[in-house]
Amino acid sequence: MTEYYTEAFVLDKEDFKEHDGMIHLYTEELGKVSARARGLKKILSKSSAHLEPLNFVRVRLMQMKSGYFQIIDVLPHHEVSVTEKKKSQQHWGILFAMATFINKMTPELHPDQYLWNMIKKIAGVEVDEATMYQFLLKAFGFDPQYAVCNACQHSDVHYFLHDDHGFYCKGCASNIGSNAVLLR
Ligand SMILES: [Zn+2]
Repeated sequence: MTEYYTEAFVLDKEDFKEHDGMIHLYTEELGKVSARARGLKKILSKSSAHLEPLNFVRVRLMQMKSGYFQIIDVLPHHEVSVTEKKKSQQHWGILFAMATFINKMTPELHPDQYLWNMIKKIAGVEVDEATMYQFLLKAFGFDPQYAVCNACQHSDVHYFLHDDHGFYCKGCASNIGSNAVLLR
């Protein structure tokens, strides 16, 4: 068994078995990790509040011999924790969109220090949603600045579609469905 202690951003939370939770985290040390939190649904679980999506935490993880991860301990990360600062409703919406996008775009166990720094930066400032997507795409290695439309090769791209990792112009956007994110 191996133990890890790392900073993390909580992406998502699911119920797991009767009393447990499965927490999807983006961590500094390991990249995206899904980890089981035992007893999460018991009323007195103090971890439960810390492990709500969009929180920043310091977490101790144990990787079992079978490969799966378990959360041993969790503390709030005060320096970047957004729950303790007054954030606008819009900023919460942007953090939610960021968590959803990271969950879709990142493979498990591929740590990326640049992406981690970008996540903390976005959490700390009031950026609009389009800017957030541009920052993340740059971290994922897709720079909208030099992109052309996947359908017509036009250089004026306004959308990104995670299904095919393609950029699209305004004109072609109506053909690609509602999954695309708006970049500007
Ligand atoms: Zn086009």
